[in-house]
Amino acid sequence: MDIPRIFNITESAHRIHNPFTPEKFATLGAALRLEPGTRVLDLGSGSGEMLCTWARDYGVIGTGVDMSKLFTGQAKLRAEELGVADRVKFIHGDAAGYVSDEKVDVAACVGATWIGGGVAGTIELLARSLRTGGLILIGEPYWRQLPPTEDVAKGCLATSISEFLTLPELLASFGHLGYDVVEMVLADQDGWDRYEAAKWLTMRRWLEANPDDELAKEVRTQLTSEPGRYATYTREYTGWGVFALMKR
Ligand code: SAH
Repeated sequence: MDIPRIFNITESAHRIHNPFTPEKFATLGAALRLEPGTRVLDLGSGSGEMLCTWARDYGVIGTGVDMSKLFTGQAKLRAEELGVADRVKFIHGDAAGYVSDEKVDVAACVGATWIGGGVAGTIELLARSLRTGGLILIGEPYWRQLPPTEDVAKGCLATSISEFLTLPELLASFGHLGYDVVEMVLADQDGWDRYEAAKWLTMRRWLEANPDDELAKEVRTQLTSEPGRYATYTREYTGWGVFALMKR
């Protein structure tokens, strides 16, 4: 079981697989006023940077579930590197339907809400692991600027304009699901550059090491077109943030 191999290639050197930077995760952890011993569940935990740094900096304990074998392995190594392997656990598997045995204080899905079939389904899934009064964290894209045409939305790798909401609409949508938005930290364009531009050097080096790989042509095409596509579309139009929610 794994995610499509192309992501394990292009994001192999990423510690954070979304437009957040280490500073943004630290800001989020401080904003949530995390106490030592806070139990965190993270569905789609990637390479584990959020859980590992929060365990180091705020003393949280937690579990991450991710379908990428590579990223899960990197998360375990990171936990050892940061000296928190006794506090965080990483499981390689499908997080769809994953409910923790013990209720947690914080249940998160940061940039992987397809796991629950969209934001609403993911909130429902996370709520099943959450103690009464706990926090849900959702990392999700929104339109910084509404694309003027469907082609611009497609340039942002959205299926259509309607795939994402504007920030006020996204915030209102959490209310319609019965949740208060109690905190948020938003990515910025520098963070987008760290996420997207970091793929380019990884792709270039991978191509040099794997010229005859069956994905070499696809990676070559992406490396050629991605800087321009990203600068024209995603960097201008797509926002991203993590939203902290509490049930009303
Ligand atoms: N939250 C992480 C990773 C976000 S990227 C971070 O902030 O860095 C999305 C992640 O979802 C990837 O790590 C991918 O491997 C994982 N993923 C995709 N489908 C999944 C599924 N069905 N179950 C668990 N993880 C999944």
